[in-house]
Amino acid sequence: MSERLPCQTLGCKASILPATALKTGGICMPCHQKKLALEEKAYIEQNRKDVDLYAGVNDPVEILKIMHKPRKYNPLEHEITYQKTAQELYHQLNESDRERLETYAIALMEEDDFGQAETILLSLACFSSARIERGLEVFFRKGKYYPGILYKEASQDIRDKLIHQLEYNSANRNHLLLALAWIGDEEVVRQFETWRQHPPQWASELNTSPESYSHEAGWELDTGGRKKLLYYPESYPLKVCAEGESGMNRAHSAVVVLQSSEYSCPWCGSKLTVLFDYNLQHPLIQYMKLSGQRLRIAACMHCNCYGTVFMKVDLDGGYSWSEYNVVPDFLPENKDIEELSWRAMQLSEQQMGTYEHAFWTLEAPATQIGGHPAWIQDAEYPVCPCCSVTMKFIAQIDMEQVEFSEGIYYIYLCEACLIVAVNYQQT
Ligand SMILES: [Zn+2]
Ligand SMILES: [Zn+2]
Ligand SMILES: [Zn+2]
Repeated sequence: MSERLPCQTLGCKASILPATALKTGGICMPCHQKKLALEEKAYIEQNRKDVDLYAGVNDPVEILKIMHKPRKYNPLEHEITYQKTAQELYHQLNESDRERLETYAIALMEEDDFGQAETILLSLACFSSARIERGLEVFFRKGKYYPGILYKEASQDIRDKLIHQLEYNSANRNHLLLALAWIGDEEVVRQFETWRQHPPQWASELNTSPESYSHEAGWELDTGGRKKLLYYPESYPLKVCAEGESGMNRAHSAVVVLQSSEYSCPWCGSKLTVLFDYNLQHPLIQYMKLSGQRLRIAACMHCNCYGTVFMKVDLDGGYSWSEYNVVPDFLPENKDIEELSWRAMQLSEQQMGTYEHAFWTLEAPATQIGGHPAWIQDAEYPVCPCCSVTMKFIAQIDMEQVEFSEGIYYIYLCEACLIVAVNYQQT
């Protein structure tokens, strides 16, 4: 048996074989590896260069192409981020810019590069409300049906082909139904109602009824078979206030977000939070057609992560814990609850597109009133516990935007019963 030597690193108690000592210069393998890692880190820090991929590029279309292009990670390069987000750039495109981008996405799809093409088509559809007819035709021809939101304004011809495919294309049935839900025109509504009354044979292969796919596109059939929207088309974003600006103009704002409540949560004992405080008299809020003074929507930020919580409200700012609430199977212990604090937010009076945040993975900050919800998981409209009607989505708070956290709180209202609901989703 050969003799073992002590590792030469100060404070290391390991002993090593002479052969190892020869290879490493007298230190043990873990110490040697640590040394190499430190050397590599120092090398990278000394040699890393800033790379500006946008230098000299002024055309927003070219800038977006660079942004969307996937790149290999190179530790020796530090990419300078562009001063505007993709969302901001899409807002600024004109008609011919949008057409050029669509043409570019088509070229990518012809080469079967769908990742980038999908991002471009989704951004055009959500951020700029553009019709993407030419792009969609190629997408459809290539046998792609997801994300369904791309089919939002599909032609009658594509719609009829989708309906026809449902009969035999069982592998894509889920996506075909989602695409149809997004089209949601008179013919689709009629078709969904027919399926509700006479479920087709293939419906037994689904996990849910064909007509319930409409929730993913924000509508459902009412009892008479008509289309009922589950959100308001009008939508306004909330933006994080710049430093020093916090609270400015709040008194005149249509909506104030995230204030602490005077009440405590009966489940965990922590203070409730008023997520949204609506001034119902404000001109901007008139699209809700609520005849009152004030609507306050409170929630327990902790318990609400574990299930839907209902509140009884009036239209004068009053609210109270609903008798319909059922304690979830799991709740946090009061002692584990951290104090939360937020960045101040301000409602923008600039109306935005209905579907601006409808596709969550585009990663735009998504706090808003009205508009289509940004589902992280499947659509989850609660049923009013009092009248059993699906509740309407009215607002959402994106926690990544207001706090160094994650997930989205979704707010709903049953106008007839004056009950609000809050639920939460995360990745
Ligand atoms: Zn050592
Ligand atoms: Zn609670
Ligand atoms: Zn109700």
